[in-house]
Amino acid sequence: KFISLEGGEGSGKTTAIHFIQQWLESNNIPYLMTREPGGTPLAEEIRQLVLSERNETVNDVTELLLVFAARAQHLAEKIQPALEEGTWVISDRFLDSTYVYQGKARGGNVEFLDQLADWVVGSNNPDATLLLDVPVELGLERVVQRQHQDRLDKESIEFHQKVREGFLERASADPQRIKIINASLSLDAVKVQIEKQLIALNHA
Ligand code: C5P
Ligand code: MG
Repeated sequence: KFISLEGGEGSGKTTAIHFIQQWLESNNIPYLMTREPGGTPLAEEIRQLVLSERNETVNDVTELLLVFAARAQHLAEKIQPALEEGTWVISDRFLDSTYVYQGKARGGNVEFLDQLADWVVGSNNPDATLLLDVPVELGLERVVQRQHQDRLDKESIEFHQKVREGFLERASADPQRIKIINASLSLDAVKVQIEKQLIALNHA
């Protein structure tokens, strides 16, 4: 099974991933934890290129191609081989993030994005995507304490609002795959929702 985790700033992805890891271990399910952009040495180098600050405006097309270049490498070298041997793959972000960040939030060309998605990802979509949804203000409140280095820290509330809307739109277009997790609730309540999805997936 292939599961991706999605969500905006302060949605609690990292905590959710720790919980998923514990659940998989206690159920003796072989798994691979990975992330995007990144997941292989080359793809992680591309991640640095995409997310670091630089003295040059990054062209939207350049950014989109870099994200997909990293994904092509990640799929070929890590995700597909693991899935073929029956290992569950859990990815911290995947294609939905590209539609949301490079598409919706940064105004990228969605037709071009669709073509790249078709070409690079094809049918290798996650079996399930857990979308950790939290109101922007609450999410940002949660990250105030955290040490940040990436360029997203400089984004406006409106940007984060678009990110949230973008994810919710993706979820309503594909409710079979994308499961919305109410991440405003307590940690325990979030875990209950995630566990429910993991159980369903395990029996699917
Ligand atoms: O998942 P995480 O929050 O650690 O991701 C690092 C940063 O990369 C985030 O702030 C996210 O908004 C950004 N990102 C992006 N485009 C993507 C994926 C992530 O700008 N396709
Ligand atoms: Mg971040």
